[in-house]
Amino acid sequence: MGGTFDPIHNGHLRTALEIQQWLGVEQVTLMPSKAPVHRQQPLRSGQQRLDMVRLAVANEPALLADDREVISTDASYTVLTLESLRRELGETAPICMLLGMDAYLSLPHWDRWQELLTLCHIVVVKRPGWTYEPCEQMAQLSAQHATEEMDRLLQSPAGCVIFRELTPLGISATQIRALINAGRSPRYLIPDAVWDYIQHNQLYSEQKTEGK
Ligand code: ATP
Ligand code: MG
Repeated sequence: MGGTFDPIHNGHLRTALEIQQWLGVEQVTLMPSKAPVHRQQPLRSGQQRLDMVRLAVANEPALLADDREVISTDASYTVLTLESLRRELGETAPICMLLGMDAYLSLPHWDRWQELLTLCHIVVVKRPGWTYEPCEQMAQLSAQHATEEMDRLLQSPAGCVIFRELTPLGISATQIRALINAGRSPRYLIPDAVWDYIQHNQLYSEQKTEGK
């Protein structure tokens, strides 16, 4: 599960854990991106966002932080990350990429997006506030690749899209940043350890309010 995680919040964490339990896999990896190329936004540094992910998963063995994009000297391209994972894990290992509905619907803006399903499966998580309203290209992609059988994800290395409805959590990092910027508490929307880190490093308290 990739993302800017600016900051990581309970919507990410609960999603990752519920998917880990549903797939019956040992771990789900959270991978902060270095510098997103398809969106523009003021960001905390990759290292700070990685620190927060590490703090958030520290007491949960089913969740893991992956620093490969943050420490890379290149910009973050999901397709390149998946190619590196594929080289590491071999041709036959199933790889599942976890995307919220908003991220899934934005795929046509991603570099070499049509190759993604040759490298991984995609698990699309419904997200409050985003309905499935695909553009023509995405409707076609879903029609070609959607399955309702989770077993198919574990039996083949790549190529399936599966939609999954989890405990709906209408939390976004945009909302967290806005709360902090307004001098209000984001407590219980993010882990306490992450909130402590944000306060200690005075993150998000002096930026212009963003619209969303
Ligand atoms: P921002 O508001 O800055 O865009 P965000 O909350 O959307 O932050 P991202 O880091 O952009 O967080 O998202 C990383 C991934 O997690 C994306 O695939 C996104 O769709 C998914 N995601 C984020 N929040 C939720 C949530 N509350 N429920 C389900 N999926 C989520
Ligand atoms: Mg987002």
